[in-house]
Amino acid sequence: MALYREWRPLTFDQVVEQEHIVGPLKQAVISGDIAHAYLFTGTRGTGKTTMAKILARAVNCLQPQAGNPCNTCEICRGILDGTLLDVAEIDAASNNSVDNIRQITEEIVFLPTKAKYKVYIIDEVHMLSSGAFNALLKTLEEPPAHVIFILATTEPQRIPATILSRCQRFDFRRITLGGLSRRLRQIAQQEQIKIDDDAVHEIALLADGAMRDAISLLDQAKTSFPEGATGADILSMTGQVSRSFLAELAEHLCQGEAMAVLQQVDQLLAQGQDMVRFAHNLAAFYRDLLVCAVVRDSRKPSETTLTELVHANSEDLARMQTVAARYRQEDLIRYIRQLAELLSDLRWSTNPRTLLELSLLKLMAPTAAEPAGVQLSAAAAAGAAGSRNQPVTANPSSAAALQREATAPAPPDRTDGLAGAVAAAVLETDPGPVPIAELKPAAANARPLTEHLPPLPQPGPQAGVASAAAPGSASAAPAPAAAPLSPDLAREAAQRAKEGQDRWPEILERLRQQDMFSYLFARRAQVEAEADLLVLYFAKQEKANYNVFTTSRGQEPLLRAVRETLGHPLRLAFRVREQAGPRPDSERSETEAGLAWLNRLTQAAQALGIPVDRSEAEPEEEQKS
Ligand SMILES: [Zn+2]
Repeated sequence: MALYREWRPLTFDQVVEQEHIVGPLKQAVISGDIAHAYLFTGTRGTGKTTMAKILARAVNCLQPQAGNPCNTCEICRGILDGTLLDVAEIDAASNNSVDNIRQITEEIVFLPTKAKYKVYIIDEVHMLSSGAFNALLKTLEEPPAHVIFILATTEPQRIPATILSRCQRFDFRRITLGGLSRRLRQIAQQEQIKIDDDAVHEIALLADGAMRDAISLLDQAKTSFPEGATGADILSMTGQVSRSFLAELAEHLCQGEAMAVLQQVDQLLAQGQDMVRFAHNLAAFYRDLLVCAVVRDSRKPSETTLTELVHANSEDLARMQTVAARYRQEDLIRYIRQLAELLSDLRWSTNPRTLLELSLLKLMAPTAAEPAGVQLSAAAAAGAAGSRNQPVTANPSSAAALQREATAPAPPDRTDGLAGAVAAAVLETDPGPVPIAELKPAAANARPLTEHLPPLPQPGPQAGVASAAAPGSASAAPAPAAAPLSPDLAREAAQRAKEGQDRWPEILERLRQQDMFSYLFARRAQVEAEADLLVLYFAKQEKANYNVFTTSRGQEPLLRAVRETLGHPLRLAFRVREQAGPRPDSERSETEAGLAWLNRLTQAAQALGIPVDRSEAEPEEEQKS
């Protein structure tokens, strides 16, 4: 049995973190004040279904203990082994029709057979058809006293407001590094898995808030390293390079030791490292160095800030601070920019090794005496000669914007995002036809970070932001619309994209089995079908995840997973937007109403075969493949 199934919490008290949910639910069980509809939202692997199952037992348990289910009484056991039919779990991904919901609404008029409540757990509830939602709404308006619905979703913005308003909503948070680490250590101890603290830390970092992924990685480590896993083992298992290797390289680079740099590249190849993945690791490492430098130079430096912003163990962190001390902030920014260029160039390269070596040597080239601005444009010009998509970096206004950002101690995720801002460009990996005309404007459309705009149309201030950041630059122009297809073709393409959206969990699962690297980043996206495109949205503060998909290393496994799951290729687009996750309550209703309206309008237009370009409504960087 998979480790994560075995270690699924059975009581509220066993749940890791999520205290803001556990507390109220236990209290509801104790007081008997149970709602008839709950909505559990949150990203994958944060425990929504687990919590729903605990609640289903707790409300029905014959001898609950301080709000927890006992898991030993007849009812609890019946629910646990699936023999008690009063509790049903429905996957809306495969049961999304009106008939599926009607079946439920017909049977809820009957009293439960043994339990106190009939509980319906509807997973991935956003997948229900609009007819099914309507049928569900009728039930939620006047629910029988003996029925509880627990709706779970990763995409609350796709749930109709009428349903939302009838549910008690709980937003699940990503689990903290500390929470993940403690749980992993506990499991390792009980299962006698040999693994050191460093390895636990690396797994917790990779899992990125999802307990299920953390435990799956632990499972994988157990099988791969029966003699015991170290941090380095975990890195090699998932194809990452160690921070000490990167720190060594960074030292050689800043001291201009070309031979040592080339030897390190040789070492990488000998280990069979993937060059793209390595370039990504190196860019991320320089992001961390930049954060070290920003914290160092800020007025109130504090250790807490640094450990919150750079996730590394204390030994690595100390080393990174030493290395960062050798660099000026503007040089670190130049490195990140050039590494982003390298990442985008690697896509086209048939000789990644040479390209990597050249780029690393080029990084060392400018002398420290030169003003940073000159270095930037010189580097951009040098890069332009050997590369197919350079308009972005050659843009002096974005370089200027970058400089401004660099001098202020800006939040680090924005600087992290540089890689994507620079690398954003259209890709041509999809076998389907991509009009050439579409390539250029979109590349020019990649924006510097100051121009990220909120997801709703708000004419006045937005235009101001864009033009203030880059006066007269091409980036203020709206993204070009795709070449119009014939109505029939457009409809078919839109259906295919919709299918891709509906079957996204399957695609993700296939990707998880085939390519852990691409999966770890893809799972952070919110997926929406838009005309013939399947768009992966990444939150602005998680731009590093988006950056992975500016490379073929990140894209190709995903394209393959899409193709193999659906049986045909699909056009994908990758975008960054203000916030992909649940919004604070105050903003939610208004934004959601606006988006719902926009979605209906888009759907109506698509049904009539009118090509829709929503790039102005949801401005963000985009790249297509
Ligand atoms: Zn019980």
